[in-house]
Amino acid sequence: MVTAVEAIRAKRDGGELTPAMIDAFVSSAARGGWEAYQLSALLMAIFVRGMTPDETAYLTKAMTDSGDRIDLSDVPGPKVDKHSTGGVGDKSSLILAPLAAACGVIVPMMSGRGLGHTGGTLDKLDAIPGFRTNLSLDEFKTALRVTGVGMIGQTSRVAPADKTLYALRDVTGTVESIPLITASILSKKLAEGISGLVLDVKVGSGAFMKTAETARALAKSLVDGARANGLRCGALLTNMEEPLGRAVGNANEVVECIETLKGRGPKDLELLSVLLAARMVRLAGLAATDDEAEAKVRRALDSGAGLERFRRIVEHQGGDPRVVDDPSRLPRAPRTTVVKAGRSGHIVKLDAESVGVAACRLGAGRRTADDAVDPAVGVIVLASVGDRVSAGDDVFAVAYRDGSSLAEVESLLSRAVVVADDSPVLRPLVIEEIAP
Ligand code: URA
Repeated sequence: MVTAVEAIRAKRDGGELTPAMIDAFVSSAARGGWEAYQLSALLMAIFVRGMTPDETAYLTKAMTDSGDRIDLSDVPGPKVDKHSTGGVGDKSSLILAPLAAACGVIVPMMSGRGLGHTGGTLDKLDAIPGFRTNLSLDEFKTALRVTGVGMIGQTSRVAPADKTLYALRDVTGTVESIPLITASILSKKLAEGISGLVLDVKVGSGAFMKTAETARALAKSLVDGARANGLRCGALLTNMEEPLGRAVGNANEVVECIETLKGRGPKDLELLSVLLAARMVRLAGLAATDDEAEAKVRRALDSGAGLERFRRIVEHQGGDPRVVDDPSRLPRAPRTTVVKAGRSGHIVKLDAESVGVAACRLGAGRRTADDAVDPAVGVIVLASVGDRVSAGDDVFAVAYRDGSSLAEVESLLSRAVVVADDSPVLRPLVIEEIAP
């Protein structure tokens, strides 16, 4: 049996970990064995020295096998999911899942909760009265058979090694390691029983990866790690300098998703959702080219098939489907206020991270994993980068419950918007693509 000290020394000195070393590390993280300080020492050695693609792929496999893998072989149809590395106002899952399903894709979606300034799909779904994300395996499979979509939370039986390692990384300064992020994300996706995965790797202020270079390196590592584990995978690198769409919160983001499925949503959100859904359709083998896939998804959007699918998904998972026609049935905060432009000119920046932190301070997100989330509060961005504004124009609408954090929120939002004389160069939504 490999000892912890042997593995730590090997990586400390820049060597490659053997499969036996990785197995011992992962098994200790999942079931005990090594001390937490030994796991942490190896995490730091990996952080500093990195891992080869082979080591990363093996770590991914070992972490997946530390828990249950869902077997969906008795659910007919091609199973493809999407994963986003997380952003502010990133609600595309709730739009693309029904669109892809309306085109014939089976979408087994196991999501996480939000932490820090980025939101999580589960918190948005929880805003829909009655919606259940804690389905049993049989219920999950039935949902996939009936609506083509199952949206659930991760159970403790999925990738338990990741749970331990992520908690240690969080307190040892080792989160920002590309091989560790790769294995962490992919171990949970491989456990879903999918055959294809589309990645949305966010780049910019509101993203985990602040530059295109680091996002590209992460995207490449994820695509390689997925392929090495038998999963067809492609990635889009997309802009997260400013929030996606206009709503940042939970219930307000669900409203925006419904509006987008009705063809009345913000154009950036609609475009990203269509592009990602189209990549899913293509990976599922339901279209021969990206153009053909996009045309299929557009038809699902324009015909209302995506909206009807969303209604069925909500109803099937116990939610109130009447929210689709009457979004006022979703939780609403008792008070609202606005934040105004301080001067006239062009908006050159709407800093996504500051908007995300502001929404979090209102109670829409969590600072620690145990915090409760208020579904009703949030921010609506009323202007876009490039817009001309006059001093005193409304830039943000804020929905809040009590005024305790309002001064901090208003200050964050005031600093998030930068107005200048010259109009800015607009960033493209899709920065780059790694084809499957
Ligand atoms: N998300 C994950 O699931 N894991 C990471 O390591 C980083 C982001």
